[in-house]
Amino acid sequence: MTIEAARRIPVMLPALGEEEALAAADAVRSGWVAQGPRVAAFEAAFAASVGAAHGVAVSSCTTALHLALVAVGVAPGDEVIVPSLSFIATANAVRYVGARPVFADVDVATGNVTVATLDAVRTPRTRAVIVVHQGGVPAEVSALRTAADRWGVSLIEDAACAAGSMVNGGPVGAGALLAAWSFHPRKLLTTGEGGMITTDDADWAVRLRRLREHGMNVSAADRHASAQPILEAYLETGYNYRMTDIQAAIGLVQLGKLRDIVAQRRRLAARYHELLADVPGALAVRDPAHGRTNFQTFWVLLTDEFGVGRDETLAALAAAGVSARRGIMASHLEPAYADVNPAPLPVTERITRDSLVLPLHHALTEDDQDHIVGTLRGLARR
Ligand SMILES: *Cc1c(COP(=O)(O)O)cnc(C)c1O
Repeated sequence: MTIEAARRIPVMLPALGEEEALAAADAVRSGWVAQGPRVAAFEAAFAASVGAAHGVAVSSCTTALHLALVAVGVAPGDEVIVPSLSFIATANAVRYVGARPVFADVDVATGNVTVATLDAVRTPRTRAVIVVHQGGVPAEVSALRTAADRWGVSLIEDAACAAGSMVNGGPVGAGALLAAWSFHPRKLLTTGEGGMITTDDADWAVRLRRLREHGMNVSAADRHASAQPILEAYLETGYNYRMTDIQAAIGLVQLGKLRDIVAQRRRLAARYHELLADVPGALAVRDPAHGRTNFQTFWVLLTDEFGVGRDETLAALAAAGVSARRGIMASHLEPAYADVNPAPLPVTERITRDSLVLPLHHALTEDDQDHIVGTLRGLARR
């Protein structure tokens, strides 16, 4: 490894430590590694932390979104409005149920859909909306939920990035019809791979537990725990979308650290804001009026005033040993969605073209931040 490579500042690092390793080892030693008591404990703790009555752990946020769409009854022929400006899994989930994704534009300050951008692409076939709390920035859910009720469409929240974010005075997830969460290592709370659906609806929770486990009416864990043989029945076509107890053991430790992880990120983000104040044309993501982001993704929008293009900026950062990334992708620009002909999405196209993600993680130092912003400052003044 060269000295340059050794000094490279990563864009993201999972905050994993010895406690997570020990918890995983405990799960292995217990002899029960599939979905079992640790998954149940993680579900209860996570749901409580986001103010939801029920948590159903699954294998990823992608599978969580799939099951959420099944739960609300989205079917072939239906349209589901999603932001194009999102990781592609949001749109893909709509296709898993045979429905048609319809792309909505976003607000430039938050990167999130609004009542107006949803209304602009709504049709009589709109059956549901997936609202994304993009990069951890909370969408204005109180207005969005009211509008969805008025329109008679189901509002699913893609909260993949939003563990620990706040909206309208409570945690993201509180009051959600169905919220889908990710525990991929790029997110703040990780189990390696993993996801969760939270909801206040007890009937949906029962159905979601069944759907994630082949449509079985009794979980494998409950069957094994029973002294009497229980004959299971398969009530509908389900999936194998389960989380393992090894993952849940890690998740329980991570959940205990979440508050500190978010607090540290918010401190580092505030310092980025101070440093970037004298860099012309570099607009960093901030808290919206209606909530607080966990700063899972610290993105910066470059304007003409900055004077250097985004890709050139990424190259300069890479040459300086900084792993920055392009900003949030736009699904409608990918080959997989070439057959969708969306309404104009000017804000989405601007954000995806002109934004980049700066490193933010628990091991980022003040020296790192000085170096990163110093590199940007040098470019802007060139
Ligand atoms: C990461 C992400 C997903 C996918 O999460 P997985 O757990 O990797 O399936 C979905 N939506 C958004 C907005 C994401 O950022």
